[in-house]
Formats: sequence, C-alpha cells, structure tokens
Amino acid sequence: MDDLLKYEKSQITRFASRFDAFTQLIWKQEINGPLCLNPDFQSGSQISLEGITNLSEALVQFAFFLTCLNELSNCPLSTVNCQFKKNGGKEMVGKIDHIGIAVKNLEETLKFYEEVLGMKSVGTEVVEEQKVKVAFLPIGDTEVELLESTEEDGPIAKFIEKKGEGIQHIAYRVDNIEEAIERLKEKGIRLIDEKPRYGAGGAKIAFLHPKSTFGVLIELCERD
Ligand code: ZN
Repeated sequence: MDDLLKYEKSQITRFASRFDAFTQLIWKQEINGPLCLNPDFQSGSQISLEGITNLSEALVQFAFFLTCLNELSNCPLSTVNCQFKKNGGKEMVGKIDHIGIAVKNLEETLKFYEEVLGMKSVGTEVVEEQKVKVAFLPIGDTEVELLESTEEDGPIAKFIEKKGEGIQHIAYRVDNIEEAIERLKEKGIRLIDEKPRYGAGGAKIAFLHPKSTFGVLIELCERD
C-alpha cells in the first residue's frame, strides 16, 4: 500500500478517466467524508468506501482500487469491486446473451416452452433482413431465441434442411461490437459480418464463421 501514497488527486482523476465505467465518478472532497464511486455501471452498483477518515487514506484506497482495475492482477477487494475489472479489462465477450434455436414452427414450439417448461416469451419479431421470425424467452440472466424461417431460402430454413431443428448459434454479449470485430480481424478470425447488422430487439449483431470457431456459429451481440 505504501507506494500508492504517491498518487495525487490529479493523477487519480486522470487514471479514472481511462475507464468508461467511471463516467459518473463522484469525488467527495470533504476531508472527513467517505469516498464514493458511482460508476454508472450496468448493475447500477455504487461503491462507497465508508469509514475513511481522512483524505490521504481516501486517496490511498482509491488509488489501490484503480490499480486493481488497471492491472487486472489479483484484486484483494470484494467481488463487487472486482466486477469492474471486466469493463477495464481485456475480455472480448461477457455473458451468454442468448442461445439461438432453429425451429420449423414458432407457434408450436412456443407452446412447449411456455406450457411445458413454463418459460415466457417477451414477444415475437420479424427480422426481414435475416428472413426470420423470432421469439425471445428470458431464463436466468440469459435468453432462448427461437427462430423460424420466413422464406424457403432463408438461413434458418437451410440450417433445418441440413441438420434438422436444434441449436443453431450461441450469442455472446460484447460491450463494443465494432471494437470486437476489429480485434477478431487482427487475430485472423473469419467473419460472416465484417460490420454489425441489426438484430432482434434493437441489438447490434455480427456472426463469426464456424470454420474459424471449431464448428459453432457464434454471434456477437451488443445491447444498450
Ligand atoms: Zn441470435
């Protein structure tokens, strides 16, 4: 901790500005006040370093926290804090956004998911560009996407023709799809979409070629 004392407030503020998550950084200057970070993070978490009784200790704590984020090293802070590593980190994908399942008849399939499994569709949508009608069914912190082809020559119709009904793709959530695409290109990964396109529910999506992903059709998905 001692070497972190060298951080001055201006350095720390600059340091913080390197993290998107800290756009709403609140710096409480009161000597005896707690140091609060309100990072406007997806989870809406607010981190309050209570019990800090003087500014220099606050600076040390803050610098320590940011160092953890920056170095992505063994972060001894709480797991709540560690979640922020993700935003400042190097991971390309976050959670599984959804699992795409190709079906012949959306209505019939929905009956199984809703009436037998007890899941609930949040509505259907036709995505003309991809020649599909889709329904999303949230489950836990991910979703199942059921896809029925609207045209005989659509990608879902072709998939079913070749392989039958079943899992067609896995979609991973990304923070910034353009950036992810660039990084994949740099690594020589084959892409179906070199630019993001419109996905159901207003998402920005792009598919990776299964030849580059050991047989799985992977979708990248960015949502607000
Ligand atoms: Zn999908």
